[in-house]
Amino acid sequence: MSSQASDLITLGHRIRHFRGQRGLTLDQLGDRVGLAGSQLSLIENGRREPKLSTLQDVAAALGVDLTELLSREAPNTRAALEIELARAQKNPLYGALGLPQVKVTKGTPLAAVESLVGLHRELARRASEAIATPEEARRANTELRELMRDRDNYMPDIEQLAEDQVRASGHVSGALTHREVSVMAERLGFNLIYVNDLPNSTRSVTDLVNHRIYLPPASIPGGHGLRSMALQAMGHRLLGHERPSSYAEFLWQRLQINYFAAAALMPREASLAFLSTAKRERELAVEDFRDAFGVTHEAAALRLTNLATSHLDMTLHFLRVTGDGALQKGYENDGLPLPVDVTGSIEGQYVCKQWSARSAFTHTNRTTEFYQYTDTPAGTFWCATQTGATDAGEFSITVGVPFAQAKWFRGRETTQRAVSRCPDESCCRRPVSAVSSRWVGKAWPSARLHAHVLSPLPSGTFPGVDDTEVYEFLEAHAAE
Ligand SMILES: [Zn+2]
Repeated sequence: MSSQASDLITLGHRIRHFRGQRGLTLDQLGDRVGLAGSQLSLIENGRREPKLSTLQDVAAALGVDLTELLSREAPNTRAALEIELARAQKNPLYGALGLPQVKVTKGTPLAAVESLVGLHRELARRASEAIATPEEARRANTELRELMRDRDNYMPDIEQLAEDQVRASGHVSGALTHREVSVMAERLGFNLIYVNDLPNSTRSVTDLVNHRIYLPPASIPGGHGLRSMALQAMGHRLLGHERPSSYAEFLWQRLQINYFAAAALMPREASLAFLSTAKRERELAVEDFRDAFGVTHEAAALRLTNLATSHLDMTLHFLRVTGDGALQKGYENDGLPLPVDVTGSIEGQYVCKQWSARSAFTHTNRTTEFYQYTDTPAGTFWCATQTGATDAGEFSITVGVPFAQAKWFRGRETTQRAVSRCPDESCCRRPVSAVSSRWVGKAWPSARLHAHVLSPLPSGTFPGVDDTEVYEFLEAHAAE
């Protein structure tokens, strides 16, 4: 519906409003301006556009300024509802339902109008909600990953934005402080407020009217998570985000705010100064980068992927893998063969058991990174893996590079080596034949419900269960 048409509806309501205030009938006002009452009725219903001279006559007859008559505001609450209903009924969204147009008259109860408007609002909300099936979600995720791979995971515009914001907050060097994050928010016109009752489904809520950003309670003020969440909320504003119209746009916004927060916590200039020195000294280590900027291991590892190719002349990969070996997040521009499903999606796929992302779980000393060289069909990679645990279970964070680039990293002298033949299934996906033949048909495992919503069940004799692990478990215990 054109804005002109919707302005006509408002204009009509304003004329009717002032006519009612003056106690005039349609015919009486019509007489004064030289129009038939029926013609005036068409104008009041927004179905005819009056000439300017007619409007001037109407304004004069009603004793109001022309500008007052032409105001775009509804003259009262009921008129506002009627205008909204008229607009909604002309919307193609409603037209597609094939339902009749309801004509509201003076006698229509207010509750009926409110109910209809409420239903139209809900219809519009549902239609615009970014609903995605799991397939759409996976496809959008894959497209985004490929886009970022083409850009070497680097976004210069957001880098610049973050650097400017950080500098304006008074930050000079080292880790961005809690105080500096608050100053950044204040410069944007927002107050950071910590509350105990944020909705479960949100990480932060921004009140655009009162200019407040609500965050979860600060159990440890200055912690990485809290600064990051505040920065992400600010990122939405600074990047001019509108309500996402699709799941892909939602993901894109998420990626942008995460990037902004990381670029603010580990600003480009300071990060490159730190990383370049470490590279020159052949002492590159994600754990040092992490500690220098007071962020999580995962945040530091991801940040390295933003800067390594664009500024440090390196290709690399990043993996976040759960205790059961499933890939939660991954990035590579160094050719590491990530496991993919038929749609090209990597999330929920199991990485090779030989990779350090999984072998690190069996490593006893977990206080520092675990280093390993892995021969793969795509060449040899050097990887550094840090393991950790959350309430949801174990996970590992890996950053790795092709063999030739290992020389810049601490841990390059490791003697830990492994051979991975994946995606050849005989590498680690099929049971060793002797064990297999002994147990096939004689095992009955019961599957644990899978934690990853987006991930498919691994194929095998028992859906959701890794045969190899079951057989090896039985083999080990049978001997006891
Ligand atoms: Zn394998």
